Amino acid sequence: MGKIVVFGSYVTDLTGWAGHLPVPGETVIGSSFKMGPGGKGSNQAVAAHRAGADMKIITKVGDDVFGREAIDFYMKEGMDTDMVFIDKEKETGSALIMVDEITGQNSILVTSGACGNITDSDIEKARPYIEQAEILLLQFEINLDALYKIIDIAHAAGVRVVLNPAPAMEIDESILCKVDVVTPNEVEAAILTGIKEVVDMESATRAARVFFQKGVGAVVITMGKAGVFVMQGEEARFVKSRSVKAVDTTGAGDAFNGGFVTALSEEKDIFAAVEFGNVVGALSVTKKGTAPSMPRREEIDRML
Ligand code: ATP
Repeated sequence: MGKIVVFGSYVTDLTGWAGHLPVPGETVIGSSFKMGPGGKGSNQAVAAHRAGADMKIITKVGDDVFGREAIDFYMKEGMDTDMVFIDKEKETGSALIMVDEITGQNSILVTSGACGNITDSDIEKARPYIEQAEILLLQFEINLDALYKIIDIAHAAGVRVVLNPAPAMEIDESILCKVDVVTPNEVEAAILTGIKEVVDMESATRAARVFFQKGVGAVVITMGKAGVFVMQGEEARFVKSRSVKAVDTTGAGDAFNGGFVTALSEEKDIFAAVEFGNVVGALSVTKKGTAPSMPRREEIDRML
């Protein structure tokens, strides 16, 4: 069944590198291309699985070559695929990523495809897994109407809801009172709380208090290479990031979230779970890619 259920997106990342990004109407000959598994839900699920969690992924792909690649990838990882829904009409989600290899800047076009089409019938099939989980981990890359229903089901069943509110977007904030832990980065925290700049312990504490007023149970704000802020009740801490040689920071937030819920599912308290997630995030930036850069448990334990 899975102590942790991750209900979220699968997106095929199609990344091309070139000397400069094309302007509208321009065609640029690139230097290299890479295709790989992505999507916040999927990346976080892979991070939790590699960290040793008893977890289940629930996602949706199209009936196409990218969807089959996703299932192949999960099978190679040793993850269950019985709750990977297949949409007969919508295509697999994709991210068209163009990277300027000189400046590192990128332009990204994401189409959510099948994972933007989670239906009531999908939710009913997922219901037993959600209700029997200990922790449900969610993000904003599935259709919001489905997200709200899934949170309602989990909350009613007493499941601990961890929401990574990414990417930043406007939501129905009444849902936040059903969220046990929210895990934004600094930008998402600023947008969701109206605190202009969330950059240090003081501003993060103010942001956390706004989340508390909206009914969230505990607040974790990831702050890139600075580290992670965590607040529960009146206790606030700042966990400094681990010092590593960063090669590619994309997916660090996903790594953190997967690690964080893994530790929560092992009965660690929220502060210890943040320490664990911090290590998973740090290790993920030492390798290129998103899902393929998620560390395995042995590496995590060595750094802890
Ligand atoms: P992304 O959108 O790229 O996945 P994010 O903005 O959601 O990232 P970050 O706050 O950048 O997430 O990173 C998440 C966590 O990963 C950080 O809080 C930290 O624990 C770890 N981390 C990120 N960058 C570094 C780094 N350069 N060195 C060490 N740890 C890092």
